[in-house]
Amino acid sequence: ARPFDANVFKRDFPILRETINGRPLVWLDNGATTQKPQCVIDRLVQFYTHENSNIHRAAHTLAARSTDAYEAARDKVRRFINASSVKDIVFVRGATEAINLVAQAWGRRNVGEGDEIVVSHLEHHANIVPWQQLAAEKGARLRVAPVDDHGQILLDEYEKLLGPKTKIVAFTQVSNALGTVTPVAEMTALAHRHGAKVLVDGAQGVCHMPVDVQALDVDFYAFSGHKMFAPTGIGVLYGKADVLEAMPPWQGGGNMIADVTFEKTIFQGPPDRFEAGTGNIADAVGLGAAIDYLSRIGMANIAAHEHELLAYGTEHLLTVPGLKLIGTAREKAGILSFVLDGCRSEDVGKALDREGIAVRAGHHCAQPILRRFGLESTVRPSLALYNTHDDIDVLVDALQRLQSGRGVR
Ligand code: PMP
Repeated sequence: ARPFDANVFKRDFPILRETINGRPLVWLDNGATTQKPQCVIDRLVQFYTHENSNIHRAAHTLAARSTDAYEAARDKVRRFINASSVKDIVFVRGATEAINLVAQAWGRRNVGEGDEIVVSHLEHHANIVPWQQLAAEKGARLRVAPVDDHGQILLDEYEKLLGPKTKIVAFTQVSNALGTVTPVAEMTALAHRHGAKVLVDGAQGVCHMPVDVQALDVDFYAFSGHKMFAPTGIGVLYGKADVLEAMPPWQGGGNMIADVTFEKTIFQGPPDRFEAGTGNIADAVGLGAAIDYLSRIGMANIAAHEHELLAYGTEHLLTVPGLKLIGTAREKAGILSFVLDGCRSEDVGKALDREGIAVRAGHHCAQPILRRFGLESTVRPSLALYNTHDDIDVLVDALQRLQSGRGVR
């Protein structure tokens, strides 16, 4: 592995050489999506230039190439999150689709009237709405584990929610709005003690830290490729073998069947059973290339770099007059969220954009947790492996000028 130098890694990402409003782009909107390294872009070109075909392995040479590339990507995902088998890895569109798949395929079979689904107050709308829809359809109840004033889940309160009616617990590994890292293994063990299944939303987790789904012992783990340097439109649902095996299909169509007559269809086993129709083959291959890239650098090295940068960013942001950090958990990853006295978050976002600095300003698709802090929006710089101290300095300098009335350009 190369020694960790974010400035060197930055050069792997061609878009980071863009200038925006005459200034070098400072990309601090990684929580929304990450940029793509040249090796991922090249892999897509390679696929469409030399391998493109639908994946019916035996049909012809290109079909064999594309099938091999697609299945190799599945194995890269397996290794990356330490799943025990490629059968546990279902390709989906993204975290949202993964969660909907579980809510509908697993949920419709296993959640009934009077049952309970537990989520946390930190959740992205993608990990609230599908459960709400399931609860409404089944007459089940959605219960919410509260957080303290730092944005940390109150474990005692969470434990009190668990009982014989709890069928599934769904919570995030890292809050996209506050950056809180949740104690996944501990919360999972508690849920299992009550016989509930566990889905972890890893959309903001898998890109920031090493993930071992077997060590965490989660039943489902969902994430999106585009937040980990891969293309949009590809994501992953991991499921434990026995849980996926017992789960009915979600959508019906080609690729997911063993045999079809007008009377009856016999379905394939996992993962094919959950991949009806032609999948996003090229972007899955791109995800494999992104995983190769991350593995060359090392997730532990990335986590250490981002941890240091988060501490640096926290310290320096707090020097801006009137800036209040939202989300002060002991364990955080990748996300800084703040409000500025006397400024609308949306206006701060626009002012920063005039200086080439890209951050998210708004509710981050997590309205309940912002409202827990009495807010409708925050400004959210979010980090990735290619961010540097310079990026933070440029941000802090712009905010300081904004607050001192000298304004940004
Ligand atoms: N969960 C979390 C925590 C997220 O941050 C996001 C994306 N902002 C999602 C789920 C949904 O991901 P996607 O839109 O890629 O499906």
